[in-house]
Amino acid sequence: MIFGWFRRRRRRKLLAQPFPAGWRAVLDGYRFYSELDADERGRLEGIVRVLVDEKNWEGVEIELTDEIRVTIAGLAALLILEIEHRYFRRVTSILVYPTTFGSVWGGSQHGVLQPEQPTLLGEAWYRGPIRLAWDSSLQGALNADDGRNVVLHEFAHRLDMQDGVVDGTPPLRTPHALAAWARIMSEEYERLQGRRRGKSILDPYGATNEGEFFAVATEAFFEKPRHMKRRHEELYAILAEYYRQDPEARQRRALSASQQEP
Ligand SMILES: [Zn+2]
Repeated sequence: MIFGWFRRRRRRKLLAQPFPAGWRAVLDGYRFYSELDADERGRLEGIVRVLVDEKNWEGVEIELTDEIRVTIAGLAALLILEIEHRYFRRVTSILVYPTTFGSVWGGSQHGVLQPEQPTLLGEAWYRGPIRLAWDSSLQGALNADDGRNVVLHEFAHRLDMQDGVVDGTPPLRTPHALAAWARIMSEEYERLQGRRRGKSILDPYGATNEGEFFAVATEAFFEKPRHMKRRHEELYAILAEYYRQDPEARQRRALSASQQEP
């Protein structure tokens, strides 16, 4: 554990070093990074450095590489790029599995712990590690617009948990913001619950509870911002206010820049 001034000094040193070229090459392969402007990229890289350095990264039946750490840290950094953050302070460990895994919390039958079926892509617990399947994490980074991104999903849960409860409401700045959040989120949540399968840009899994709704809405906000802004205008606006980002404008900018290229 590194505390206080020592940690600050260590971070300053770390951030003074140039960002490793190999890490940038990894990030360059992903749209979530290449769409950022130079200033945003610089800040994202700084967060990546700290997350890679300070978290306890563990591979379970997989050897961890820079690609794995930088990809996961890059997506986590995207979430907190513009908000006040302490580098996901309570996330001390990130456990990476090659593919789907079983819950450690397991089921028990007649008092005997049963091995769980390996069906999880990711898991986040309050004060526990974040657990991620690498194949799904990579797919999330590569497919920037399918609305599925397990890394964004699990780290969004940790933002939600900052106030100690998983209720789909991360700490908000003002009572006014909280009131607007409650109204819009509950309306959208009920709307998703009423939907039939496949009829929304939001993953139906978001209808499970408020915590899942926030995590699923976050995935769609970053991955399908144009659709969300068109079909869920208020939801888009309130997430844009929370994350202090406008991925729809960013995507539009990137698109027009790529069309202007010779
Ligand atoms: Zn979830």
